[in-house]
Amino acid sequence: MTTSQTTVSLEHVTKRFDEVTAVKDLSLAVRAGRIYGLIGPNGAGKTTTIRMIVNITAPDSGGIQLFGQQQKAELQDRIGYLPEERGLYRKMRISDQLLFFAELKDFKGRRAKEAVDGWLGRMNLVEWKNKKAEALSKGMQQKIQFIAAVIHDPDLLILDEPFSGLDPINMELLKEILLEFKAAGKTIIFSTHLMELAEKICDDICLINRSQKVLEGSLRDVKRSFGRNSVSVRAEGGDGVLDDRSIVSSVKRQSNEVEALLAEGVDPQLALRRLVESGARITKFELVEPTLHDIFIEKVSGGS
Ligand code: ATP
Repeated sequence: MTTSQTTVSLEHVTKRFDEVTAVKDLSLAVRAGRIYGLIGPNGAGKTTTIRMIVNITAPDSGGIQLFGQQQKAELQDRIGYLPEERGLYRKMRISDQLLFFAELKDFKGRRAKEAVDGWLGRMNLVEWKNKKAEALSKGMQQKIQFIAAVIHDPDLLILDEPFSGLDPINMELLKEILLEFKAAGKTIIFSTHLMELAEKICDDICLINRSQKVLEGSLRDVKRSFGRNSVSVRAEGGDGVLDDRSIVSSVKRQSNEVEALLAEGVDPQLALRRLVESGARITKFELVEPTLHDIFIEKVSGGS
């Protein structure tokens, strides 16, 4: 697979539940070999979108393509899916349920057993292999469910809030595993509210708000298009420039730094020159990129 290929595409997909439109006229394209983050506030339509991609619910209108083909049941074996609503068979031993989930994807025999052992080792859960699911903590059960999603070595991983409920160590572990999947050429779609995390691992993002796409693109392009023209300044003096509203429209003061949002049309170079001219001793002057968190808040609370 090359990165120019599209693994998942939605064209004008709409899904209604009675009077609620959960997803409205949504089009998106997930490129092969990329990590694609589906972000948006509660109730935005992320889970509904994911459930349509994995063929649990059907769109009312619009089309879904997987691996360049019209969506159909046979393609589901190439997908690994971690649902938002977690659920293991409480009374079933961990190894038995993992083998069961693998078999549902036609992955069985010795290679399935080896995969179970390999994954339990990777997830630091070896000693739980013969325990019943009910004996595991919530986070541990979530890790088992993640294994169930990947045990058959899918080409496309679709994970609904995979990081929720994990401690920082397990978050790191999962992050590492997702990056390995990507390095192996696989495609990953996941939903999250954790902007910092999305920012660290996503190649592309799609922000959904109130059932509609607000923005989509590579993280780099999204950030670039959102350039807010802010600078982070550490300096002694220069207050006159920072308080000049024709240059700086607002400032956020931190302990020994100031984040200055430049007035519209003001080139950061001009602000720097003015600071130097004012006699300020500057130890830091840096263009600030908007964080995904900033973009999320602005786009979502702006209601666009
Ligand atoms: P969250 O981040 O809270 O999980 P989400 O972005 O995943 O939210 P969805 O679960 O897709 O959002 O829900 C989108 C909208 O569709 C919500 O208004 C929700 O109430 C509605 N909805 C989703 N599933 C159903 C259903 N089976 N029946 C009725 N309404 C539904």
